[in-house]
Amino acid sequence: MSDFNPKVALIMRSDDLIDQFHLKRVTVDTSFGPVDRCFEGYVFDVPVLLIYGRFNGQKVPSDEINYQQTIEAIKNRGASKVIGTFVVGGINPQMPQGSVYVLGDLIGITGYHINWNRNQSFHNAEMFEPFCPELTKRVCEAAKKMDFPVKTDATYVSNYGWPRIETKGELEFYNKMGWDVIGQTCDPEATLAKLYQMCYAAVAVQIDDPNSRSSYIGDLQKKEQATEYVESIKSCRERTSKIVLQFLKDYSDYDCPICKKMARKNKDFREFPDKYYE
Ligand SMILES: [Zn+2]
Repeated sequence: MSDFNPKVALIMRSDDLIDQFHLKRVTVDTSFGPVDRCFEGYVFDVPVLLIYGRFNGQKVPSDEINYQQTIEAIKNRGASKVIGTFVVGGINPQMPQGSVYVLGDLIGITGYHINWNRNQSFHNAEMFEPFCPELTKRVCEAAKKMDFPVKTDATYVSNYGWPRIETKGELEFYNKMGWDVIGQTCDPEATLAKLYQMCYAAVAVQIDDPNSRSSYIGDLQKKEQATEYVESIKSCRERTSKIVLQFLKDYSDYDCPICKKMARKNKDFREFPDKYYE
């Protein structure tokens, strides 16, 4: 597969896609070490790199996930268009478990940190539009063809880094703000994709809602068999996979006019003006 050049990278846990299109597992080297959970092959006619989720070998809290390694693996394989898929928590009580979204904006509410490689020049990511408009438009077109409703231009709250899901009060506040879903992993990934000048779009499926979380606790109190809402993650994921498959089926290669140009690099940076060095 050495002459295989993936155009689109997918960050998704989909056994069905790997099996159906006979993707081959490959190992991609990065400066952080090898990434073994990579699969390559043609989906319809599109050369694809699939990265099987975000955990490299071991499940860890979200701030210990090496997002940089994942994005570097994608960069090293030459793909410049990335679709991240997410399992998220619901904010709006009117939107039930299983609701599907294409993300349009995000709100970072927690502290971020990054260990930047000092051998690379640094700039801040331009996140005014966190998701690539062109790639997102194409994902939305695929979403329109689904036999289930998909909310587009959804706002994702990034609760990155803290190993817990949100409180009732937090959810009520986010709902008042009109935000849609919450999760821990989209934003480090979106920011890094932007820093690496990639086109990035995101599809999310909601695995709980404020009502189901409340009734889960109620069931525990009644000592009844509590239905774990996490059991249905697999069927929820199938919905995001369906959108991604439709996107690939309709895909024709194109150049994004924005993302690869977007870098606020200052190559002439000096700590202070040269005249003070004397
Ligand atoms: Zn783009």
